[in-house]
Amino acid sequence: MRKPKIAVVGSSSMDLLVTSERRPLAGETVLGDSFQTVPGGKGANQAVAAAKLGAEVYMIGCVGDDPYGDEILANFNAHGVHTDYVEPVTHAKSGTAHIILAEGDNSIVVVKGANDAVTPAYVNGARDILRESDLVLIQQELPEETVIETARLCGELNVPLLLNPAPAREIPDTLLEQVTYITPNEHEAALMFPGQDLSDVLRRYSTKLFITEGAEGVRYFNGEQEVQVPSFLVDVVDTTGAGDTFNAAFGTAMAEGQTFVESLRFANRAASLSVQGLGAQGGMPTREEVEKGLM
Ligand code: ADP
Repeated sequence: MRKPKIAVVGSSSMDLLVTSERRPLAGETVLGDSFQTVPGGKGANQAVAAAKLGAEVYMIGCVGDDPYGDEILANFNAHGVHTDYVEPVTHAKSGTAHIILAEGDNSIVVVKGANDAVTPAYVNGARDILRESDLVLIQQELPEETVIETARLCGELNVPLLLNPAPAREIPDTLLEQVTYITPNEHEAALMFPGQDLSDVLRRYSTKLFITEGAEGVRYFNGEQEVQVPSFLVDVVDTTGAGDTFNAAFGTAMAEGQTFVESLRFANRAASLSVQGLGAQGGMPTREEVEKGLM
């Protein structure tokens, strides 16, 4: 099979992860147990996942001209993600996520930084690579107007676009019409369509919108009825990044010509493997690991 070409228009950041017995109250200082930095951001996670699954991946994004930016670029290079369209900017710092892992839960402050430099004009500067792509992946850690412009551009260039609507916000109807696929999890679907019955939503956006449901897999409407494609039974270590792996895997499988249902199965398999490893990128499986599980 030919290597599919995927462009990811998205965020990249450095996750600054602290573990502590408990989180500090306002005005309080506590002593933590450990600290580590790991590359993250939904765009970067999906780019790395798609590359591990065998796609030729082009990242379109911005980092700061700073040490975190250098590390983010080095991580892309280590995974074979092309960085010709990742620009280090001087007017903002690399995006960061400040994560406290305490009492079995995390609290996160995200500073978007250089990710806000991914403007509509910036994406237009990458139209050559968008035109050559089999599929484009985008998420919502970018300015809303950038998502809207990317959808318009993909329509003009006739390239399929997969929008992973995370983090969730209400989405204009015109954007919903323009995207090829949109993949909320249950929580995001509820926020996107407040007060609406999700079965009606699935029916309205038949084969375009599907809802991921954690261990249950994924649900969509096939034109006649609602269908559930179950995930695989695994021992869960850390579900961070399950959605990122799912989206990258579905996009990779569609881009290489697998059918819709085959692509959902491939995505479930890849995502179910990802929850068996620690961290968003840490658990992402290789192509061989996914194929072994599908046999
Ligand atoms: P998100 O990570 O965006 O919150 P979900 O929790 O719906 O999204 O997970 C995305 C996909 O990851 C699911 O559709 C499924 O394929 C896989 N997945 C997530 N959790 C599990 C699990 N506990 N067991 C097996 N597969 C899982």
